[in-house]
Amino acid sequence: MVSRVIPVEPFDLVVFGGTGDLAQRKILPALFRRFCAGQWPDDVQIIGAARAGFDRDGFRDVVAESMRRHAPKHCQDAGKMAAFLQRVDYVPLDASTGEGWDQLAEKLSVDRVRAFYFSVGPRLFGPLADRIKAHALATARTRIVVEKPFGHDLESARALNATLAEHFTEGQIYRIDHYLGKETVQNLMAVRFGNMLFEPLWNSQYVDHIQITVAESVGIDGREEYYDRAGAMRDMMQNHLMQLLCLIAMEPPAKFDPDAVRDEKLKVIRALDPVKPHHIVRGQFEGGTNGPGYRATVGNPRSTTESYVALRAHVSNWRWAGTPFYLRTGKRLVARSSVINVMFKDAPHSIFGEEVGRHANVLSIRLQPNEGITLKVTIKEPGPGGMRLVDVPLDMSFAEALGPGNQDPPDAYERLVMDVIRGNQTLFMRGDEVEAAWAWTDPIIAGWQARGDVPKPYDSGSTGPGDAELLMKRDGRHWQGINP
Ligand code: NAP
Repeated sequence: MVSRVIPVEPFDLVVFGGTGDLAQRKILPALFRRFCAGQWPDDVQIIGAARAGFDRDGFRDVVAESMRRHAPKHCQDAGKMAAFLQRVDYVPLDASTGEGWDQLAEKLSVDRVRAFYFSVGPRLFGPLADRIKAHALATARTRIVVEKPFGHDLESARALNATLAEHFTEGQIYRIDHYLGKETVQNLMAVRFGNMLFEPLWNSQYVDHIQITVAESVGIDGREEYYDRAGAMRDMMQNHLMQLLCLIAMEPPAKFDPDAVRDEKLKVIRALDPVKPHHIVRGQFEGGTNGPGYRATVGNPRSTTESYVALRAHVSNWRWAGTPFYLRTGKRLVARSSVINVMFKDAPHSIFGEEVGRHANVLSIRLQPNEGITLKVTIKEPGPGGMRLVDVPLDMSFAEALGPGNQDPPDAYERLVMDVIRGNQTLFMRGDEVEAAWAWTDPIIAGWQARGDVPKPYDSGSTGPGDAELLMKRDGRHWQGINP
């Protein structure tokens, strides 16, 4: 089955921070892939904007080099590349002064979707919004795309929401959490709400607990200053893991429409209990063969920022009362792997005389790598010799299941950027959601600060601090493996 491409209407997309890492590595390659797929028409304009003094051809050279490095093989075609670059332009511009804005205004088309992508540091989000308004660049068909981090805490997120609301309606603001653009994350909703099989079992009566793991094998990767101020709680838990938890825990929305979905996610966040201090483990990686330890990496010998966090959360509502959600994320772990495991309860009685508890079903939703869904089921071990049970995976790897056209699933940014152009906000966070997530996160961080909490060291290339294992063990449970 080859995926269907639904063309979008002509648009202008301005990428503020167009020369930066995210734009070059993710946003522009995503646009190129959609171009190769024939999703957008000929008269689209993609305008990079940053302070660097490139002219149009100079910027095209930079983009061409990035496409060679980051675009997939099937797009590496000189003709396609040349046609794509024809649509790419550049304006030297400063977000915090008036420099370059008149030139940008001259380039923009009238009467078409106009998207402004804020791919710059968060301190520039407010000034960019102000400048767009001051130079009268915002039309009724304007959308702004705001990268993470959306605030550093509740207060700053509220202030940023208020600044954006001065100039744009909520319907024009697209807050990116790229995890929501991943195919498997959307498939999670399809599996839950498109099948009769799972939903009746999707509650505390049948689900023992849920594990959400977002493990990274890399370290801080050139973001030392930002990361040491943020830590894993702000950088990953408050947004990506929280969003995954919402999609797992939410009630079925009445329809797949932006506000219906986001209303249900918001209810989940608001139903989260405060996390007890003994239900949370912080860690910091030590040096090893794959590089220096956390403190040396960030150049702060006394840093108490966590590069790992594991916690037990509770959603206090009718559906989930008594079912813990264990969430963990960390850097420099044994593997790069993002997976959600829905751990079903044991069968209440074994008619085969086996010990109860050996064969509970597990639904694993793999976000990366090898996107797919596996259901662990119990069958009879083949052959004579009595009724011995064995667990086998019912495996649905999307690339294999959906055939040759799907060997190279779209990157999250492809889906999300096209959704911006289409005006579909379902996979973007609403302002109240972000604030609710910070309202849950802030007291946890404030508690660490008040107690002078110091993260536990863990070995690079391990599964994290031993205390995270204890968090589970105390409850008579254990983490599923990180290795994909
Ligand atoms: P980056 O590599 O440092 O790029 C920043 C960009 O902003 C550059 O193009 C820079 O170009 C431009 N810029 C800086 N000051 C400016 C100003 N006053 N006016 C206009 N342009 C200005 O940063 P990045 O990694 O691409 O990150 C961009 C945003 O995405 C950040 O908010 C980051 O948190 C977020 N994000 C990044 C990643 C990632 O993987 N990189 C992932 C998730 C979220 P000039 O210096 O030439 O102006």
